[in-house]
Amino acid sequence: NVVPHEFVMPPDEEQFKEPAWKNTTRAKAAFVILTRNSELDDLRKTIQQLEARFNSKFNYPYVFLNDEPFTDEFKELTSGLTKAETKYGLIPQEHWGYPEWIDVEKADKLRHKMGKDGILYGDNLSYRHMCRFESGFFFRHPLMLEYEFYWRVEPSVEFFCDLDYDPFLYMKENNKKYGWTISLLEYESTIPTLWETTKKFMKEYPQYIPENNLIDLISNNGGGSYNLCHFWSNFEIGDLKFLRSPEYTAYFEYLDRAGGFFYERWGDAPVHSIAVGMFLNQSEVHFFNDIGYKHAPFMHCPISRELQKKCHCDAGENFDFTESSCMRKWISVTE
Ligand code: GDP
Ligand code: MN
Repeated sequence: NVVPHEFVMPPDEEQFKEPAWKNTTRAKAAFVILTRNSELDDLRKTIQQLEARFNSKFNYPYVFLNDEPFTDEFKELTSGLTKAETKYGLIPQEHWGYPEWIDVEKADKLRHKMGKDGILYGDNLSYRHMCRFESGFFFRHPLMLEYEFYWRVEPSVEFFCDLDYDPFLYMKENNKKYGWTISLLEYESTIPTLWETTKKFMKEYPQYIPENNLIDLISNNGGGSYNLCHFWSNFEIGDLKFLRSPEYTAYFEYLDRAGGFFYERWGDAPVHSIAVGMFLNQSEVHFFNDIGYKHAPFMHCPISRELQKKCHCDAGENFDFTESSCMRKWISVTE
């Protein structure tokens, strides 16, 4: 008996083809991970989950950044967890240090005082460099320049749900500029003059402030004061064009000149979030409800049964509707 032609298996060349993910449309995107060598083991757990839940199907590259050179051990034990490309970058000194206009003595004094006052990371200088770097520089690092979208990841964070689509392409195709999973209230003591400085910026650069923005997300009185709501920036999926835009650049430089990254302890999370509120409209911001995510002590765990099927987190521990979450605000503004 002759096997009909259509049942003959294709020749073996199938196995020499590029893997499927290389043929499909992909975004120009990467994970970006600022980390220290000492966080290697915490990071390995995170990458393992990220690969299992998402990236083994998509193989987006990783960009690791550090203010010190990465060790060979770090490189070997991170690249070994993924088939994707891994790149290791050193942060240039201008992006991790005092700019020349900062009065270092004043910064030291104020920092020690914030430490004595018991403010979280109050007396920590490297934390301030970190916040300034994440606010103004990671997207300008040479290794990041070829990308259009980023997904920020930190050591120790966890991913609980299978993600069967490409969130970068989702962002691109739907004209989303900023994606988040957890929103919460900032400690006011870390940003005493951030809002005043922001208001001055808005007054001086009205051309950058569109009428149809999301100011109501970050202010309960039409911009009079900041309501302390921010997206938790340890998770972000974003459009790098937004952070490289003239308006974001002007805002960062304005804040940097004002000195609050050092004289106070301005976090990159409120800085990014205020920028989102000032510059973007509702359709450009996306809540990734389907990404179960934890950065201790808070977790976003999708509560719908349909989404739960693909997750391993306890929906009872979902942060979204607790006291210090800003989810209700998000819903009231975007509904
Ligand atoms: P928290 O989440 O606000 O408590 O701050 P983290 O300690 O998690 O720091 C935020 C991110 O910056 C993490 O990815 C850290 O690995 C990274 N980071 C913080 N400080 C430093 C530093 O001094 N050097 C480097 N290379 N990374 C840092
Ligand atoms: Mn962290």
